[in-house]
This record gives sequence, C-alpha cells and structure tokens, in this order.
Amino acid sequence: MDGDQESIILDTIDKFLAKDVKPVARELEQADAYPHELVEKMRALGLFGATIGEAYGGLGLSASTYAKIVERVSAVWMSVSGIFNSHLIMGATIERFGTEAMRETYLPRMASGELRGGIALTEPDCGTDLQAIRTRARRDGDAYVIDGTKQWITNSVEGNVLAVLVKTDPDTTPAHRGMSLLLVEKGAGYHATKLAKLGYRGVDTGEVLFDAVRVPAENLIGGVEGRGLQQILSGLALGRINVAARGVGVAKASLDASLAYAKERKTFGKPIGEHQAIQIKLADMATRVEAARLLTERAAAAYDTGERCDLEAGMAKLFATEAAVENSMQALRIHGAYGYSPDNLVERYYRDAPLLAIGEGTNEMQRIIIARQLLDR
Ligand SMILES: Cc1cc2nc3c(=O)[nH]c(=O)nc-3n(C[C@H](O)[C@H](O)[C@H](O)COP(=O)(O)OP(=O)(O)OC[C@H]3O[C@@H](n4cnc5c(N)ncnc54)[C@H](O)[C@@H]3O)c2cc1C
Repeated sequence: MDGDQESIILDTIDKFLAKDVKPVARELEQADAYPHELVEKMRALGLFGATIGEAYGGLGLSASTYAKIVERVSAVWMSVSGIFNSHLIMGATIERFGTEAMRETYLPRMASGELRGGIALTEPDCGTDLQAIRTRARRDGDAYVIDGTKQWITNSVEGNVLAVLVKTDPDTTPAHRGMSLLLVEKGAGYHATKLAKLGYRGVDTGEVLFDAVRVPAENLIGGVEGRGLQQILSGLALGRINVAARGVGVAKASLDASLAYAKERKTFGKPIGEHQAIQIKLADMATRVEAARLLTERAAAAYDTGERCDLEAGMAKLFATEAAVENSMQALRIHGAYGYSPDNLVERYYRDAPLLAIGEGTNEMQRIIIARQLLDR
C-alpha cells in the first residue's frame, strides 16, 4: 500500500471518530453500554477485516497502517479498539495456522463482521501461567466435547465466535504439548456472562462456561492436537503491537487534554502552563508519546517484513502502556479536582490505561521475557 492509500484510510477513520464515536463515547462508557450502532458502522468500514487478507474478504492492511488506526481510535475511545483487536488476533491465527477449508469457511464471515469474537485463554485460576489451564476437550467420534470456564474474555457476550485454548491431553508433559485451540461458535452452546470493570467499559468482557459443548473435529485450528499454545503465542506479537498502539493513543489523548487545560486554567494570575512544574510534566508526557510511537512503529515495521519481532513488540508494549498509565495520571493531576470528575475525559483515560499493563501479557512478564531474550541473543 502506498502513502496515498494509507492517508485515505486514516482520513476515513478520523472522520468516523469525529462524527460517530466522539459524540456518543462518554454516555455509552458511563452506562457501560455496548455500542451496537458503532459496530454496524465499523462493519461498513471494513474494520473487522482490517488485517485479514484480501483473498478472504479483508482489507489486508499492514501492521504499520493498522497500528496507526488503533492509535487514533484509542485516543478517542479505547474500548472501540477492543471490539476488533482480539477479533483480528483470532483472524490472524486462523489465517496462519488454519486449514484452507477453515480459512474459507470462517475468514470471510469474520472480515464482514457477521462473526465477531476473540480469544479465550484466561481462566478463573490462571492467566499468566497458561499451561495450568483446566478447560478440557475430549475427542468423541468426529467431534470435541468441551468442559471448563474461561474468565475475562473480551467480546464473549456480544460476539459469536471464540478461539478457545483447551487441554486435549491433560497428562502430557510438558503441558503445552497437550494444549490445542478450538474454534467455537456461540451456537454450539457456550454461555457468557458480562463482568464489571474499572474502565474499558462499553466493550464486553465475560466469564464463559462450557458445559459439554460439542464442536466438529475440523474446528481444531491446524488440524493437529498439541499446537494450541504455540499457535496463540505466535499471534501475540501482533497483539502486543496493537496494545502498544492503544497505549500511544491514550498517552497522546492525555497530553492533548493537558495542553489545552494548561493554556486555559489560571492560578496566581497566569495560565498554569506558565508554571514550571506543569511545563516539566508536559515535556515529559510529550516525550513519552513520541518515544512510545517510535517503538510501536519500529515493531510494526519489523512485523511487516516477516522478521521475528517479539523483542521489539514486547518493548513497544511495555513502554507505550507504561506511558499511557503515567500520562493519564499526570493529566489527572494537571486538571486538579476537575480531573477527578466523570465530567472530564481524563478521568476515563486514568481508568482505561491500567488494563494495558495487564492484557496481552502483564508488564511484569513482559520485562522477564525481554530480559530472557537479551540474555539468549
Ligand atoms: C478487561 C480485560 C480484558 C481481558 N480480555 C481477555 C481476553 O479477551 N482473553 C483472555 O484470554 N484473557 C483476557 N484478559 C485476561 C488477561 O490476559 C489476564 O488478566 C492476564 O494475562 C494476567 O493474568 P491474571 O489476571 O490471571 O494474573 P496472574 O497470572 O494471576 O498474575 C498476578 C500478578 O502476578 C504477576 N506474575 C505472574 N507470574 C509471574 C512471574 N512468573 N514473575 C513475575 N510476576 C508474575 C503478574 O504480572 C500479575 O502482576 C483480560 C483481562 C482484563 C482485565
């Protein structure tokens, strides 16, 4: 894609955000209401197929262009990016590891947004330590029967398909050799209940119960048991670039709100932006945004060349999400008491940002993974 085509796409996204998302974001967020009308508009824009190949009805965008879209969307309302992010990780996993029959059956319906969903890994007793999952899938003739519970699963209530990490052979060691990924449509019978959250509201996150849920054996991603953890982990580089881009968006929105307020709010006869203590905060916030964006762009560019980029994606995720957490806190402080009010957007940034340090691998684990890779190289 050339620069002109990318500009047209980004311009379209900017118009959608200004006209459709911005006017409704606060009300929907405060009510924790799913943005059904926005989802229909996102379908029309092709966002549910953003990174899915054109051969399967998607837009086939590069990770670089996609990261720019995610940054823009997240600067206006981070939850909206959650509606298509984990959906697209599921799409990338199917495109990379699924059989041709699975790609042809599922990807066009996912790209159109008819099927929407995400990835179900986490359970009530484990998130980081995925080898400890207990959800079990037993082979029964030409089907798998799934029993277990998944927790904190984005798009599980409003969506209608999930890629579910299961144990097909719980006795194998190491445990990952007994783990597989199954594609499960809601019609198969799983039951999802919405969970309450501090931020990242509007987009649904749920607990998902599988009680003897039966899916055809051909829904095993890749067609061979024992590869599920490896398949999902290989998709996490794109996931981390997405989350990094969200971090840039929230960090930038926090900066922009703070710059505007620093010019308008007066204390001791002058705008607070003329006090050195505020200037130092603004300078640090702006520097974090630029550095976070550069790391994200670098990781996305490496992903697009097909290079191994887990180190770059991990560093971008770590830095950009910590930038979002720090900038949202500083924005709240710059706004004084008004920053603590739900009438002000910075209060939402402050509630949304911490999720970024938890999802797609916590930042504690991110540091451990980065260090291990540095030591191994
Ligand atoms: C809003 C939201 C949406 C989510 N969406 C999804 C989704 O769509 N799909 C999905 O599968 N999951 C989802 N999650 C779950 C998320 O991926 C997990 O919360 C995350 O992986 C961490 O797992 P945990 O919460 O079980 O924490 P734990 O694994 O219990 O960790 C607790 C703490 O211990 C630290 N820790 C753990 N192990 C180590 C170690 N070895 N060394 C140092 N520190 C360690 C962690 O960093 C963390 O600080 C979502 C979570 C939230 C809040």
